[in-house]
Amino acid sequence: METISVAQMKQLLLRVSTEIIDNEPYLTKADTIIGDGDHGFGMKRGFSAVYALLSSNDFSTMPELFKAVGIEIVKTMGGASGVIFGTLFISGLDICGNEQITARQLTAFFQKGLEGILRRGKASAGSKTMLDALIPAVNAMNSAVNSISDIHLILKAGYDGACEGVEATKSMRSRAGRSKNFQVTIGHPDPGAISLSLIFKALYESSEFL
Ligand code: ADP
Ligand code: MG
Repeated sequence: METISVAQMKQLLLRVSTEIIDNEPYLTKADTIIGDGDHGFGMKRGFSAVYALLSSNDFSTMPELFKAVGIEIVKTMGGASGVIFGTLFISGLDICGNEQITARQLTAFFQKGLEGILRRGKASAGSKTMLDALIPAVNAMNSAVNSISDIHLILKAGYDGACEGVEATKSMRSRAGRSKNFQVTIGHPDPGAISLSLIFKALYESSEFL
């Protein structure tokens, strides 16, 4: 489909929430290997709050919906990831459409999210963070959106890019966040990058049958 309504986007974000909640053990394991082990619980706490918020509220505009999600994440998730993943949803409110969102607007929305995280977290590409999944995801969406207007296919491009990014983090050494203090990070993927890929996985899969 070429556009998604606010109500449909809310359904997609509910699926994102359950994807993260269900993968808590996987994320915990990843952060236990290369970090301090709290990433899975932080993500689960944040997205459980998002799930509750979305389940009990309706939103009339896209910026209202994304802003509520981002603020809930910052409020409840904690750790580096609270600010980082919250920023992903809050930075592009002025360009995400109002009652509908197009593939082009969704791409620009995540581009803005990426720019916001770069500004806020001061990490860069290759530091073994969620940015190393988000950057290829946004690049893939930007390339695809020149010839494709179907949102599901644009999200597929984003998900594929994110998965390639997660793979690439395996051979990176940590340079940002708490995990930079841990020695044995080579050979293992970055937990935040995995979380980012799960967000895109859920958006991609749940947009198929809209
Ligand atoms: P903490 O590092 O405070 O324990 P979490 O374990 O919840 O926080 O999150 C760790 C994840 O946060 C990392 O795997 C990484 O992807 C991401 N991260 C950490 N610092 C940054 C940063 N400056 N920019 C982008 N992502 C970051
Ligand atoms: Mg941690």
